[in-house]
Amino acid sequence: MATTQTKSFHNLIGGEWVDAASGETFESTSPADGETIGVFPRSGAEDVDRAVEAAKAAFEEWRLVPAPKRGEILFRLARILEREKPALTELMTHEMGKVRAEAGGDVQEAIDITYYMAGEGRRLFGQTTPSELPNKWNMSVRAPIGVVGAITPWNFPVAIPSWKLIPALVCGNTVVLKPAMDTPALAVRFVELAAEAGVPAGVVNLVHGGGGTVGERLVRHPDVRVISVTGSRETGVAVLRAGADTLKHVHLELGGKNAIIVMDDADLDLAVDGIVWSAFGTSGQRCTAASRVIVHEKVYDTLEKRLVDAAERLRLGPGWEEDTDVGPVINRAALEKIHSYTQIGKDEGAKLLTGGEVATEGDLARGFYYRPTIFGDVDPQMRIAQEEIFGPTTALIRVRDLDEAIRVANGISYGLSSSIFTRDVNAAFRAMRDLEAGITYVNAGTIGAEVHLPFGGTKDTGNGHREAGQAALDLFTEWKSIYVDYSGRLQRAQIDTAD
Ligand code: NAD
Repeated sequence: MATTQTKSFHNLIGGEWVDAASGETFESTSPADGETIGVFPRSGAEDVDRAVEAAKAAFEEWRLVPAPKRGEILFRLARILEREKPALTELMTHEMGKVRAEAGGDVQEAIDITYYMAGEGRRLFGQTTPSELPNKWNMSVRAPIGVVGAITPWNFPVAIPSWKLIPALVCGNTVVLKPAMDTPALAVRFVELAAEAGVPAGVVNLVHGGGGTVGERLVRHPDVRVISVTGSRETGVAVLRAGADTLKHVHLELGGKNAIIVMDDADLDLAVDGIVWSAFGTSGQRCTAASRVIVHEKVYDTLEKRLVDAAERLRLGPGWEEDTDVGPVINRAALEKIHSYTQIGKDEGAKLLTGGEVATEGDLARGFYYRPTIFGDVDPQMRIAQEEIFGPTTALIRVRDLDEAIRVANGISYGLSSSIFTRDVNAAFRAMRDLEAGITYVNAGTIGAEVHLPFGGTKDTGNGHREAGQAALDLFTEWKSIYVDYSGRLQRAQIDTAD
């Protein structure tokens, strides 16, 4: 419940902090203990329209700022983010619920992408090529596109906005950010810091509110040229449909059902560490979380026992307490969804090995905590092995050999991350080639992306794009091919080349 001391936050439109036109608000509360973080504008179409207008106007100047100068502003932002890392980390443990080490990692990803992309200000390479005609110059350059709508989830509340905004900005676009309603305060801090670094008014705008209102209006707005969304498959499908009428460039980063394969020659100590970190880190709420573990039958029983022991040693608690291993899940709806999958798994005949319940002892009752949950003897076709649960639940699947392991790993609709633990170099290379996923780890869990490589997935995880690395530049620029004829006469390509 908001009190008179509750802090009010605003939208950022054209450099001004403003309320929603309707005056309506919503609260952000901590999933760890119910604390109110603040009150935010519940915006609507009118607010989006104003933000897009501001971004469109700012684009005319920002696109002409030399890219190295845009990069300098971003280098400043990277240094400011470093300064603010402890405060952002602390806020994240409260607003989103991650444990401190992981919250620090989330902020660090933003710092890393900002340094990396700031350097693009002095690159943004195109190509020069010979011409087929004499006295003619050919080249291609990257051109900014215009207004970018960035729609982000709550699970990486600083990293994901940064993965969209920073490359968009260095390429010369302007942005309207719509963050998730569960983590609006972190989005406010991020855009405040961008303004402090010198990002001009109107270049970054922030509009709080729901997906079906603010998000949908952004997707349908004729002056928004690019939409970049990270979220669930259902959201991706809705966005793709809504963006069709205006032929938007739509970039989708969606769900996962990622698997770790453990072969019979694997280092099991390492595998247990990798599985626990990948399945229960961020309470399983990572798009790359390992929600399936595919185990060679020769080591299945040993691994099962060791994983259950390790899971039962994890301590639940608020992210800001030093000895917490697993924080809360994001909200009551998520808690109920995760618990419903426990029932689904039992009904399907999987063996519940540990967990499977809401944790309510002591202060945990004030938040949304779910015990790390492991199902054994899972059939690959069961719903718990096919559908994204997005919580601390993982499914152990027994296989006979590598062929079966890869078949099971690929037997899902998603294709984000994948992993194999083995000491056999041939098996590792086969997995690297044959796993249908945007990311494959060898002898590491399914999580831990670095910002200078492409990030994203195959199949239902997206629509063929990648963010981060050089690939991100393709999301936020259009290629322009330029021909300069300095022969002083009309030369006709494909015609005057023939002799
Ligand atoms: P979500 O799809 O519910 O929401 C994501 C964002 O989309 C939010 O800002 C939401 O308000 C907005 N939105 C929802 N419906 C919309 C609509 N019709 N039009 C426009 N915007 C709309 O997802 P979430 O619960 O916030 O995040 C969890 C999901 O995100 C999981 O499926 C997870 O796998 C996925 N995810 C993917 C990646 C990746 O890079 N592949 C990374 C993190 C999370």
